[in-house]
Amino acid sequence: MDFSLSEEHKMIRDAARDFAQNELLPGVIQRDEEQYFPDELVKKMGDLGFMGIMVDPKYGGSGMDTISYVLIMEELSKIDASASVIVSVNNSLVCYGIEAYGSKTQKQKYLTKLATGEFIGAFCLSEPEAGSDATSQKTTAIDKGDHYILNGTKNWITNGGRADVYLVMAQTDRDKGSHGINVFIIEKGMEGFHVGPKENKLGIRGSDTHTLQFNDVKVPKENRIGDDGFGFRFAMKTISGGRIGIAAQALGIAQGAYELALKYSKERKAFGTEIANHQAIAFKLADMHTEISAARHMVLKAAWDKDQNNNYDVSSAMAKLYASQVAMKHTVEAVQIHGGNGFVKDYHVERLMRDAKITQIYEGTSEIQKIVISRSITKK
Ligand SMILES: Cc1cc2nc3c(=O)[nH]c(=O)nc-3n(C[C@H](O)[C@H](O)[C@H](O)COP(=O)(O)OP(=O)(O)OC[C@H]3O[C@@H](n4cnc5c(N)ncnc54)[C@H](O)[C@@H]3O)c2cc1C
Repeated sequence: MDFSLSEEHKMIRDAARDFAQNELLPGVIQRDEEQYFPDELVKKMGDLGFMGIMVDPKYGGSGMDTISYVLIMEELSKIDASASVIVSVNNSLVCYGIEAYGSKTQKQKYLTKLATGEFIGAFCLSEPEAGSDATSQKTTAIDKGDHYILNGTKNWITNGGRADVYLVMAQTDRDKGSHGINVFIIEKGMEGFHVGPKENKLGIRGSDTHTLQFNDVKVPKENRIGDDGFGFRFAMKTISGGRIGIAAQALGIAQGAYELALKYSKERKAFGTEIANHQAIAFKLADMHTEISAARHMVLKAAWDKDQNNNYDVSSAMAKLYASQVAMKHTVEAVQIHGGNGFVKDYHVERLMRDAKITQIYEGTSEIQKIVISRSITKK
C-alpha cells in the first residue's frame, strides 16, 4: 500500500492550488455577495483542462484519473466552492454521463465542447415532487416515432441559466416505474424550453441554480442516451461518481476553513498569548486536522476505487457522508476560533460555513447516503 501522491499528481494539485489562489481568491467575496456566475473564470478553468479532467483526449479532455479530479476539486473548493460545483457537475455528471453511455455522434457533438469548457453542462433529475425519491418523475417524454415530446418542470438545476447542454431525465412509460425513465440531451434555445428565475441561496451563491420548464419540447430520438428505459440507471451511475466530486468539495471547504483558523490562532492574542496556546483552541485544531485527514483518505479511496474499476457506490456514499459532516462541523469551529471576526465576510470562514451545508444535501442527502450504506451491509 502506497499513501504517497505521484509527482504528476503533485503537479496537478499545485496547478489547481495556484489557480485558486491567484484567480479564484480575488473577487470571491463579491461574487458570493452578488450571486455572480464567473463566466470568465470558467473559461480559464476550461483552458487549464479542469472542465474535462477525466475525459479522453480524443474528445478534447485532459485524460487524467479520478485521483487528479479530487485533488483539483479540493484545491478549488478551499477557496471557492461555487466555482468547484460548476466543475463537478460538468465533469462527473455531464461529461462522464455522455462519455460512458453516449453514442459516438453525441460524444462528437457535445462532449468535445463540454470537455474544453466551450460548452457548460447541467444535470436535470430533481423536480418539485421528486428529490430524494427520484423515481417519482413527473416530467414526461412521449414517443412520437422519430422524436419525443417533453413536458415538465425541473428544479434546483446547477448551471441552469448558463448551460448549453442539459441532460434531462423524464418518464417515458409510467407503468414501468424506474425502468420507464429515459435521459435526453436538450440544447439551450430549443423551442418550448424556458429557464426560470435564479434561486437566492444560503451558500454556493456564485453558482447558478434555476427551475427549468419544458413545454412541448420536440426532442430528436438521437438525443436519447442509451437503450430505452436506461435513464434511471444512468442517473444513479453518474451520481455515484458525482458523490466523489462533492465529497472532495466538502473536504476542500473543511481544509480551507482549517487553514484559515490555524493561521488566525497563531496571530490573534488573548490573555497575553496567541490563542493557539490555549488548549481549548489547540484541541479544536487537533480534531479538525484529524477528521479532515480521515475524510481525505475516504475521498481518495473512493476515487481510487473508481480508477481501479471497483464498485464505488458505497465508498463514494461513505466519503460524501463523512466529508460533508466534517465540513459542516469544522467550518462552524473555524468561525468560533475567529471570534467576532469569524462573523464578518472579510475573513472568509462564514462563507465556507454557509457553503458547507449544501454538501449534506445535493447529489443525495446524508440520509440517502445512509440508506445506500446501510443497504449494502444489511442485505442478505
Ligand atoms: C443548491 C442546489 C443545487 C442543486 N443542484 C442540482 C442539480 O444540478 N441537478 C439536480 O437534479 N438536482 C439538484 N439539486 C437538488 C438536490 O439534489 C435535492 O435538493 C436533494 O436530492 C434533496 O431533495 P429534496 O430537496 O426534494 O428533499 P426531500 O427529498 O424532500 O427531502 C427532505 C428531507 O427528508 C429526508 N428524506 C427523504 N426521504 C427519506 C428517506 N427515505 N429516509 C430518510 N430521510 C429521508 C431528506 O434526507 C431530507 O432531509 C440541487 C439542490 C440545491 C439546493
